[in-house]
Amino acid sequence: MKTTADVVVIGGGIMGASTAYHLARRGCTNVVVLEAAEMFGLGSTGLNAGGIRYQFATPVNIELSKLSIGMMERFADEMGQEVGLRRCGYLFMLDRESDLAQFRANVALQNSLGVPSRVVSQTEIAELAPQVDVTGIIGGTWCPLDGLVDPNSLLQGYVSNARRLGATLLTSTSALGIDVAGGRVRRVVTKDGSIDTETVVVACGPWSAQVGAMAGIHLPIQPIRRQIAVTGAIPHLRPDFPFVIDFSRALYFHREGAGILTGMSNRDEEAGFDTRVDGEWRLHHIENAMERLPLLGDAEIVVEWAGLYEVTPDDQPILGRIPVVEGLLSCAGFSGHGLMHGPAAGMLMAEEILDGRARTIDIDPLRWSRFELGVGAGEFNVV
Ligand SMILES: Cc1cc2nc3c(=O)[nH]c(=O)nc-3n(C[C@H](O)[C@H](O)[C@H](O)COP(=O)(O)OP(=O)(O)OC[C@H]3O[C@@H](n4cnc5c(N)ncnc54)[C@H](O)[C@@H]3O)c2cc1C
Repeated sequence: MKTTADVVVIGGGIMGASTAYHLARRGCTNVVVLEAAEMFGLGSTGLNAGGIRYQFATPVNIELSKLSIGMMERFADEMGQEVGLRRCGYLFMLDRESDLAQFRANVALQNSLGVPSRVVSQTEIAELAPQVDVTGIIGGTWCPLDGLVDPNSLLQGYVSNARRLGATLLTSTSALGIDVAGGRVRRVVTKDGSIDTETVVVACGPWSAQVGAMAGIHLPIQPIRRQIAVTGAIPHLRPDFPFVIDFSRALYFHREGAGILTGMSNRDEEAGFDTRVDGEWRLHHIENAMERLPLLGDAEIVVEWAGLYEVTPDDQPILGRIPVVEGLLSCAGFSGHGLMHGPAAGMLMAEEILDGRARTIDIDPLRWSRFELGVGAGEFNVV
């Protein structure tokens, strides 16, 4: 194993792999990625729903989507890896006046940033998703450019291209400690030895608080279980079925092959690392899902799993330098919508490291120091 590196990235999910790729692409190839698991993609990156959307409530999240989705469009050409980008559109369905007012404001913000989302009536929702029961829905929002991407292809594209450019990406290699002396990082400790370095990126998704603590830093990121069920083929399922979200129930569906992938977030889920499927919640989820999508009555669940969101107090990531420990950076806490922001986040981390500061997007609203000022409203469009 290398004993020195210009940058050590801890965590080999979408954030770590994208960061390593973007550093290597800019000529910074003495980079080591440490991944604890035996394979890449066993963390949240391999367990998510694959949704990509521009429909966010904060300017910085919309900008992250614009940058990232543009990179996904060029991915196959630039990286030699297909990523299954599919623009099926995201349809938010709302049943509360207060949500509708907030979503109207979100659409105005999205439009001002060039995103072609719009507010839709209950009738238009029924036209866009005729197989969905719209009882009680008072309106919603729609963006035809939102859609889906294949998470593992995206991750593998970054892993293989980072390696091709000269970065070192290791599996089965946990970071066990981060040595800090004189106010700056000095080395990262693993079971196979230490790597001396002046720059460490924490990209450990739901495990980031534990790894930040190795350097004496509090990263307010909590692991919250979220689960998904996928059905077998459903006869008569429309090919143009969009990504549908019943916002107040935190319930969603999209087409997965010839069946449906559905998830429903338990807003009362306690923080923790348990990733067993919660049987009680599963029943509640399926009951709600069948109410909204009655054709699920003819379907069979063929696979289900649980993964962890990596949640911050304002549902926004912690991105960039941690000023109290020189050389320590965070690329974590994407609060359940990180897959889609991984491409941009890695590029911004490379800028932060190589140029002193992220340039392409102003990440000041996402910096760790915001917590010292008290947490703001943060992101509203959280599922
Ligand atoms: C059910 C579910 C649905 C989701 N749906 C979507 C969606 O539709 N769209 C979307 O954009 N996002 C979605 N997300 C969120 C998305 O998956 C995450 O935001 C994203 O994958 C986070 O990537 P990451 O690299 O930060 O974390 P991870 O992918 O978890 O990677 C962190 C890695 O760090 C490693 N690690 C931990 N500790 C150490 C250590 N000490 N040393 C070395 N390595 C270590 C872990 O093994 C892991 O591989 C969903 C998440 C879940 C759980």
